[in-house]
Amino acid sequence: MEREEMYDCIGIGIGPYNLSLAALMDEKTDLKVRFFDKTPEFQWHPGMLIDLTDLQVPFIADLVTFANPQSRYSYLNYLHTHNRLYKFFFFHKFEMPRQEYNDYASWVVKQLPHCQFHSEVTGVKDTGAYFEVEVRNGQTEEREVYKARHVVMGTGSKPLILDGMEGLPPEDVHHTSSYLFHKESTVESASITIIGSGQSAAEVFHDLLKEQPNHPYKLTWMTRSEGILQLESSKLGQEFFAPDYVDYFHGLSFEKRLEALKTLDQLRNGIDMDTLNNIYNILYHHSVSENAPDIVIQPLTEVQKIRQEDDHYVLECRQWQEERDFSYVSGKVILATGYVPNIPSWFDEALGDKIVWEDEKRFKVSRDYKLVFKDGEDRSHHFYTLTNLEHSHGAGATNLGLSVDRNIAIINDITGKEVYKTQRNTIFSQFSMDETD
Ligand SMILES: Cc1cc2nc3c(=O)[nH]c(=O)nc-3n(C[C@H](O)[C@H](O)[C@H](O)COP(=O)(O)OP(=O)(O)OC[C@H]3O[C@@H](n4cnc5c(N)ncnc54)[C@H](O)[C@@H]3O)c2cc1C
Repeated sequence: MEREEMYDCIGIGIGPYNLSLAALMDEKTDLKVRFFDKTPEFQWHPGMLIDLTDLQVPFIADLVTFANPQSRYSYLNYLHTHNRLYKFFFFHKFEMPRQEYNDYASWVVKQLPHCQFHSEVTGVKDTGAYFEVEVRNGQTEEREVYKARHVVMGTGSKPLILDGMEGLPPEDVHHTSSYLFHKESTVESASITIIGSGQSAAEVFHDLLKEQPNHPYKLTWMTRSEGILQLESSKLGQEFFAPDYVDYFHGLSFEKRLEALKTLDQLRNGIDMDTLNNIYNILYHHSVSENAPDIVIQPLTEVQKIRQEDDHYVLECRQWQEERDFSYVSGKVILATGYVPNIPSWFDEALGDKIVWEDEKRFKVSRDYKLVFKDGEDRSHHFYTLTNLEHSHGAGATNLGLSVDRNIAIINDITGKEVYKTQRNTIFSQFSMDETD
């Protein structure tokens, strides 16, 4: 069915990035908008909502505060509404629990009737004057086509499964993104191996360490990294996640941007200090007992392939420093192998030939998050993206702290006025020497 009305903006995906956009648009614009998500309801990485884990950014990076601290959609208003403000005050921490972030965002969703779930965007067509957005209703299988002047793609990320690890039974070998869905049966296994050494790997290892005394499995943690290392979190280091750095980064050539991403590895990869300390505390406490749980922590080791053999799995491994190959047996395997941008399958066919690419995988994105079309600058309808921005906007592309600044840019661009104030010169560092200095 084709809808007659013209929307000012349609959002694809309702994760935190587009949800922030929806909330900010709702509060201060008259734009006619609609946001679609294919899932039945808002859920923020449900397979990783592990008990007692916290958000890795301060609560100020909620859905709206950087644009409008007075917003009714702020985290503080959520606390106030739920009579939790005093508890948070005495909690005395900047990082809210991960489960609470999910609850807060769901509370915002419930107040935004233009957020529609069970609705997968299955295609976008550029008519030359506007976009036609095809939406499939997951409950009725009906398809509707919406017209929109602008589209914002906020489709997030998807699990990265490495070559040699695909196609195995998911109840035994699965990515961290579905960890909690399988946890009950995982802990019944005689041996569990976690592969990878980022934050997700550490959180799963920590969770399984806590469970180990009640389920006597052997727990192994393997990574090809040089060690189980901490994420750089110094305050001046964190300034690389400010909008001022994004300005600087976006101005570099494509090659320089790729180089810069490598130099910022310490800020992007590694494990939060509290998680590492909690892990070590448990390891130490458990080691006192004569019946200490069976633990293996093995860095410097690449798992190259996993194959099924009877009721267990054989991991083909290589200790790369010693150049030694070996096999390792495990009952269950959890892949903490990271994520890649989730670009919908229709994207290439719909837009691939029409837009400018920086290389075969990475499209060119303007400073204000628009895809760059080959047909020139004077378009009146735009396709914005909040997904796959690392190469164009830097290390903070997947950081919740920059989400609101991105949405300020999009709203001001769509409306042609400064609905929300753009904040610059906000940090102590500068990244370029002004010639007049
Ligand atoms: C486990 C985990 C923890 C994280 N913790 C933090 C943290 O503490 N701090 C931080 O700064 N960052 C964190 N991040 C990184 C980042 O902030 C999150 O990934 C964040 O969820 C990104 O938001 P998003 O809106 O881009 O995508 P997502 O949250 O992935 O949402 C995308 C949505 O798009 C929907 N979708 C996809 N395709 C379609 C389609 N065709 N039609 C309709 N809907 C579609 C999906 O169903 C999904 O709901 C974390 C990431 C992970 C994986």
